[in-house]
Amino acid sequence: SQYVYRFGGGVSDGGAGDKNLLGGKGANLAEMASIGLPVPPGFTISTEMCDRYYREGERIPDDVRDEIAGGIAHIEAVVGKRFGDPADPLLVSVRSGARVSMPGMMDTVLNLGLNDETVAGLAATSGDERFAWDSYRRFIQMYADVVMGVDHGLFEEALEIAKEDKGVHLDTDLDAEDWRRLVGRYKEIVAEELGRDFPTDPHDQLWGAIGAVFGSWQSERAKVYRRLNDIPGDWGTAVNVQAMVFGNLGETSATGVAFTRDPSTGERAYYGEYLINAQGEDVVAGIRTPQYLTRAAREKAGAKAASMEEALPEVYGQLAQVFETLERHYRDMQDIEFTVERGKLWMLQTRSGKRTAKAALKVAVDMANEGLITREEAVLRVDPAALDQLLHPTLDPAAPREVIAKGLHASPGAACGKAVFDADTAEKWAEGGEKVILVRVETSPEDIHGMHAAQGILTARGGMTSHAAVVARGMGRPCVSGAGGLSIDYRAGLMRIGAREVKQGDVITLDGSTGEVMLGEVPTVQPELVGDFGALMAWADAMRRLSIRANAETPADCRTAREFGAEGIGLCRTEHMFFDAERIANVRQMILAPDEAGRRAALDKLLPAQRDDFAEIFRIMAGLPVTIRLLDPPLHEFLPHQEEEFAEVARASGLAVETLRARAQDLAESNPMLGHRGCRLGITYPEIYEMQTRAIFEAAVAVAGEGGEAPIPEVMVPLVATKAELAIIKALIERTAEAVFAETGKRIDYLVGTMIELPRAALRAGEIADEAEFFSFGTNDLTQTTLGVSRDDAGRFLGIYVDKGIFARDPFVSIDVEGVGELIRLAAERGRATRPAIKLGICGEHGGDPASIAFCESVGLDYVSASPYRVPIARLAAAQAAL
Ligand code: PEP
Ligand code: MG
Repeated sequence: SQYVYRFGGGVSDGGAGDKNLLGGKGANLAEMASIGLPVPPGFTISTEMCDRYYREGERIPDDVRDEIAGGIAHIEAVVGKRFGDPADPLLVSVRSGARVSMPGMMDTVLNLGLNDETVAGLAATSGDERFAWDSYRRFIQMYADVVMGVDHGLFEEALEIAKEDKGVHLDTDLDAEDWRRLVGRYKEIVAEELGRDFPTDPHDQLWGAIGAVFGSWQSERAKVYRRLNDIPGDWGTAVNVQAMVFGNLGETSATGVAFTRDPSTGERAYYGEYLINAQGEDVVAGIRTPQYLTRAAREKAGAKAASMEEALPEVYGQLAQVFETLERHYRDMQDIEFTVERGKLWMLQTRSGKRTAKAALKVAVDMANEGLITREEAVLRVDPAALDQLLHPTLDPAAPREVIAKGLHASPGAACGKAVFDADTAEKWAEGGEKVILVRVETSPEDIHGMHAAQGILTARGGMTSHAAVVARGMGRPCVSGAGGLSIDYRAGLMRIGAREVKQGDVITLDGSTGEVMLGEVPTVQPELVGDFGALMAWADAMRRLSIRANAETPADCRTAREFGAEGIGLCRTEHMFFDAERIANVRQMILAPDEAGRRAALDKLLPAQRDDFAEIFRIMAGLPVTIRLLDPPLHEFLPHQEEEFAEVARASGLAVETLRARAQDLAESNPMLGHRGCRLGITYPEIYEMQTRAIFEAAVAVAGEGGEAPIPEVMVPLVATKAELAIIKALIERTAEAVFAETGKRIDYLVGTMIELPRAALRAGEIADEAEFFSFGTNDLTQTTLGVSRDDAGRFLGIYVDKGIFARDPFVSIDVEGVGELIRLAAERGRATRPAIKLGICGEHGGDPASIAFCESVGLDYVSASPYRVPIARLAAAQAAL
C-alpha cells in the first residue's frame, strides 16, 4: 500500500478529506496546494505508517524508505536543489501531524540537511553567512533535543556564555563567526552527553527525525493530552517533510500566525502576530514579542512596532486575499501559519481555528447570517460542551477591583484562586479542594496537568497563540497571557508587579475576557443569555425533537433551569431536601424511631416543610411538568455519626442515646447502595411515602388555587425491580391523593411512574408499564447495576479501563450504548408495547452528555433531564442529534 503522499509543484496526492490518513496538517497542505495557494513542496508519510512503525519494532521498513526517497526526489524536482548538495543544498522541515492538532505535544525539526559542507552552500546561495551558521546551530539544537534527547538547557547555557564572553545581550549581536564557534560547541555538547557524534549525513538525519516524530506519539505528554481530550491512542500521527522557506533572511522576510477572525471574541477581523526576520518557532516560543498583523489591532493596543499591514503592505495584501480564499473554501474560520521569504508569501499550515465558546457562537451565527453556511450547519458547528464556558459567571462590572497587571485576553471567563507557581503544586492543592490560579513565566506541555487542575492560568510571556493561550482555550480555562509587568521568582515562590509582591497562596482574580489581573476575590454576575447565544438556541430549539428538562430541587436551581430553557423538572430528588440543617434532626428521628408511631411523629414535623418546598417549585415551574421522586437515599447517609448528632436526636425524640445508637447499628448496611433504599423504604415504611405524597398534593392544590397555571405533578417511584412493588406504592399514592382531593374539594391531574434503574425493571418493563404512566431511566444506578461497578468507587480503576481501551469513555459519563443502552432500548420497546403513549425520559447524569443524548434520540425517548447548567448544552446536543 501507499505510505507517501506528495504535494506542491502542481501535485496533490491527497486533500482535505484525508485527515485520518494524512493528519490535519498534511491533508490541508495538500488541499491548499490543490487550490493554487503557495505551499512549499513536500510529502506526508501517512498515519498508517505510525501503526506499522510500532508493529515492526520501531523502525522504518525498507519499502517505505524507497517511497520516502521518491518523496525527496519530488521536492528536489520542484525546488531545483538536491538534498545533501554541498553547493546548493535542499533543506527540509520535519513535523508531526495527527488527525486533530495536539498543541505542543509532538515535535518539529527545522533546517534539516545541514552539515559542515552544506552550510557553506547555504551561505553562498543566500549570500548571508551569518544566516547560514545561525540556521545550522538552530538545527543542531532542535535536532539534538527532539531526536537525540539532549537537554536543550545545555545549548541555551552555551549560548548565554557566548554572549557573556562577547559582552552582548541579544542573539542579534552575534555574528557569523560567533555562530560558527557555537556550532562547534554544540557538537561537543552532543558528543559529551551521548558519547557519539551528531549525524552529518542528511539521510541519517532524516531517518532520525521521522522516527522521532513517530516515537513522540507514545510520549508521556502526548498520552496525557490524549487522555484529557478523549483522543484514541490508535489514531497515530503522520509525518510531514517539506522544503524549508526562511522568514529570517532579512528585513523583507517574516513569519507569522493568524486567524481569519478573532479567536477570542469571534469578531470579523483578521487577528494575528508576526515577526520580521524570524523563524517560525520564534513567534510561538515567546523569545521576541510578536507584532500585530493589522494596523487596527496595533492601534487598539496602543503598540508602537509597525504592523505587517504597515511594514510589508504588498505581502499583507496577498495574505488578506489568501484569508478570504481560505474562508470561502473551507467555510470556516481558519488558523494559519505563514512565512515570507524575501518578499514571497508561503503558506505553511491552515486548519479550522480553535476558538473560545463565545467566538464559536459568534462565528457560527455570523457565517449563517453571511450566507456562508446554513443555520443547520451553524447549529452543528458549536460544540455543546463548550457552551459551559458561556454559562458561568463573569466578573461583576460594578464591583470594585484592584487591577495589578494587564495581559492579553487569551481565554475568556473569570477565575479566582490562590496563586501557585508550578503545575505539581497546582495539582496537589486542587486535589485538596483549593481553588488555584497557575502562574508561570510561560507554560509548556509539562504543565498540562497543573493547567487542568487550575481555575485559571496567568503567564508573564507569550501571545494569543502561545502554548498557554491555545491550551487554556481548548480546556475552557480562563487565561491571561503575556502580562508584561510580572516578574516571577520561582525559587522564592512569589511574583512582583512593580513594588507589590504576590506570594504563593495569595488570592488573585483573572478576567480572561479583558486580560486584567486583580488582587483578592472580585464578585461575579450571571451571564446574559441573549445575542448570539439566544439566536443559536432559538435555531436549535426549532430543530430538536427531544424535550429538555432539568434535575433540580432547590428554588434557586429551578429558577436557573427555567432561565436556561428547561421545559420541566425531570428529577426532583426529595432526599436532598432532607439534608437541610434544620430538618436533618427530624429526619434522623424518623429513621431511628423504633416503631411506626415514632416515625409518624417525626414525619408530622417534616410535612409542612416538604409542602412548602413543593409549592415553591410548582410556582416557579408553573405550567410545566414536575417529576418528584419519592425518597431514595441509602439510609446510612442520614445516620448520625457524631456524639453531638446523637444528642440532638435524643433531645428531639425523647429516646435515650443508647437506644438510638443500638438502632443505628441495626440499620447499618455493608452494601448500602444495594440495600434498604428506594421503593424498598416505601414498602417497609409506607408512612414516609404517604407523608411525601400528601405534601405534593396539598402543595399542588394550594398553588392551583393561587390562580396561575396549574401544577403538573408526576410522582416517581425509585429503584423498582418488580411490578408488584410499583402496584403497592401506586395504590398508596392514589389513596393519598384522593384523600387530599376529598379534603380540599379540588382535583389535580397527575401521573404516576417509575424510574427504570435496575436491569430487572428494564427486562420486565412490559408488565411494569401496566402500572407506570411514565418511565425515567436512572442511568446512574442502571450503569452501576448492569456493569456491577460501584458508582462511588469506580474512579479508582475506570481511568485505567479507559486507557486500555476497555471502555471508550467512562460509562458513568457517557452511556455504555452496547450494554446499558440495549437495556434502555429493550425497556422502551416493551413499555410501549403495553402502553403506546407511555412517556419516556432519562434523568441520570447521562441526560446532559451530548453523546448520550444522541443515543436517547436514536431510541426515541421523549425527553432528557440534565442539571440546570447543562440544559443549554442538552438543547444544542438534542438539535444536533436530530439533524
Ligand atoms: C439514577 O440512578 O440515574 C438517578 C437519577 O438516581 P440517583 O442518581 O439519585 O440514584
Ligand atoms: Mg438512582
